[in-house]
Amino acid sequence: MNTTDFDCDLLVIGAGSGGVRAGRFAAQRGTRVIVVEGGALGGTCVNVGCIPKKLYSYAAHYAEAFEQSHGFGWEAATPRFDWAVLKARRAAEIARLNGIYDGLLKSAGATLVRGWASVVDPHTVAVRPVDGAADPAVKHYTAKHILLATGGQPQKVDGPGAEWALSSDDMFDLDPFPRRLVVVGGGYIACEFASIFNGLGAQVTLVHRGPRLLRGFDHEVADFVTAEMRKKGITVHLQSTIANASRTGDVQTLRLKQPAAEGTEIEADAVLHATGRIPRTRGLGLEALGITLNANGTVPVDAHFQTIVPSVHALGDLVGHMALTPIALGEAMLLVDHLFGDSVRQPIDYAMVPTAVFTHPNIGTVGLGEEAARVRGPVRIYRSDFKPLQHTLSGSSERTLMKIVVDDASDRVLGMHMVGADAGEVIQGFAAALQAGLTKAQLDRTIGIHPTGAEEFVTMREVSRR
Ligand code: FAD
Ligand code: NDP
Repeated sequence: MNTTDFDCDLLVIGAGSGGVRAGRFAAQRGTRVIVVEGGALGGTCVNVGCIPKKLYSYAAHYAEAFEQSHGFGWEAATPRFDWAVLKARRAAEIARLNGIYDGLLKSAGATLVRGWASVVDPHTVAVRPVDGAADPAVKHYTAKHILLATGGQPQKVDGPGAEWALSSDDMFDLDPFPRRLVVVGGGYIACEFASIFNGLGAQVTLVHRGPRLLRGFDHEVADFVTAEMRKKGITVHLQSTIANASRTGDVQTLRLKQPAAEGTEIEADAVLHATGRIPRTRGLGLEALGITLNANGTVPVDAHFQTIVPSVHALGDLVGHMALTPIALGEAMLLVDHLFGDSVRQPIDYAMVPTAVFTHPNIGTVGLGEEAARVRGPVRIYRSDFKPLQHTLSGSSERTLMKIVVDDASDRVLGMHMVGADAGEVIQGFAAALQAGLTKAQLDRTIGIHPTGAEEFVTMREVSRR
C-alpha cells in the first residue's frame, strides 16, 4: 500500500498531553494527521489533573495568606470561602483551555474526530461516535502510523467502603463541600488533595498503609512534609488500613486497622481513594493485534515507542515510564522527530526528571534521594532547615527544608530536594544545572540572590553527614 492510499500518515488516539503534542508537531511538519478523542480535549492534565488541581491549590493557599497578613499589619473582615464560585470559575477556565487545544490542533492542520477509537488491524482504526452525535455510525480510518495516547484512569481499591469511595476525578465538582474528608493513599494525589481540602477548610484525615508517605522520595523530605502537613491540621495515620466501613445517610464511619491504635473510628462526609492509576487500554483492541500488556497494565514499547506491531506506537501514561505531563510531551516530540523528522533530539534522561508535589508546603525534587544515592556509593549530604524570612512576621510555624546529595568521589551533585514555598519553581532551574553535570564546587561558586530562600542552595558549606 502506498502512503497516499492511507487516510492519514498518523492517527493519534487520545487528545491528552501526549496526543495533542504529537498530533500538532506532526501536522506542523506537513504530515496528514487525524486525532481521535472521546472525552474533553486536553486529557487528564487539563480536565481532572495538573491544571484544576493547581488552581485549587492556589485557592487553598489564600486561607493561610489571609491569616498571615495580620502579622504584616493587615486587618480585614473574616474572609468567607464560596466553593460554588471556585468550581464555576475553574470550569470556565478549563472550558477556555479546551477551546485552545481545539484551536492548536486545527491551526496546525490536524483533523479532529470526536469519538471512541479501537484498533482493528495494524493500519485501521474504528471510531464509535460520542453519545448524541448526529451520525451514530461507526467509521473506519486507515493510517500509516497509529499512536496510542489514551493515558490512565484512577484505580479504586477493593475493601470496606469501596462502593462509596470517590476518585480524584470526582473531587473537582464535589457537592456539597465535604466538611470531613478521609483520603486513602500516600502518593502524589493523596498528599496534594489532603493539603488542598485542608486549606479550603475541610477536616482532613489521611490513611496510608505504609510506614511513610510518598514512597520513592527522599525519606527526610517525606518525613518533613508529613510533619508540616500535620502542623497545618491534617491527621495522618500511617501503617493503617480501613478495617470496617458503614454508612448512615450521607455520613460514613470508618474503623481503622493499625498497629499503634487499633480501632480508631473516623466519621467522614466523603472518602477519596487516591490509590494509584492504571493505563487505559480497555476496548482499544490490543489483544487482536497480539500486544500483551506488562504485568502493571502498561503497553510495552521499545526505545522509539514502537510496540511489537511496527506501525503502532504508544507513549505517556499508557507506557508508564513516568506518569507526568512533561514526560508525555517529551515522548511525543521524540516520536514525531523519529517518524517524520531528523531524530536529532536527545532521549529523555528519566533519572534526572524534576518533579513537584503540590502539598502545602510544596516539594520540589530532582535526581537521587539520599537512600538511593547511598546504594551507588559514598555521598556527602548538605542540608538546612530554617524558618523562612516571611514567617518571622507572619506568625506561621512553617519551615523550609533544603538538601543536596553529592557523590563524594566525583563531587557531582546527584540530587537536590526542597520542601517549602514554590519548591517546584526553585528546583526547575537547578534541574538544568544537574542535567549539565553540576558539581558541588560549581554550586559553591554560584552567587546567591538575596534575600531569597533559594540562595540557601548555593551557601551550604558544612557537610551535614556522610
Ligand atoms: P491523558 O492526558 O490522560 O490523555 C488521554 C486521552 O485519551 C484522554 O483525553 C482520554 O479521554 C482519551 N482516550 C482514552 N481512550 C480513548 C479512546 N479509546 N478513544 C479516544 N480517546 C480516548 N502531572 C504533572 O506533570 N504535574 C502535575 O501537577 C500533575 N497533577 C496531576 C493531578 C491529578 C489529579 C492527576 C490524575 C494527574 C496529574 N498529573 C500531573 C499526571 C498527568 O495528568 C498525566 O501524566 C498526563 O495527563 C498524561 O498524559 P497522556 O497524554 O499520557 O494521557
Ligand atoms: P501514586 O503511585 O503516587 O500513589 C499511590 C498510593 O496509593 C501509594 O501511597 C500506594 O501505597 C497507595 N496504594 C496503592 N494500592 C493500594 C491499596 N490497595 N490499598 C491502600 N493503598 C494503596 O499514585 P497517585 O494515584 O497518587 O498518582 C498517580 C500518578 O499521577 C503519580 O504517580 C504521578 O506520576 C502522577 N501525578 C503527578 C502529580 C504531580 O506531578 N504533582 C500530581 C498527581 C499525580 P504504597 O506506596 O504502599 O504502594
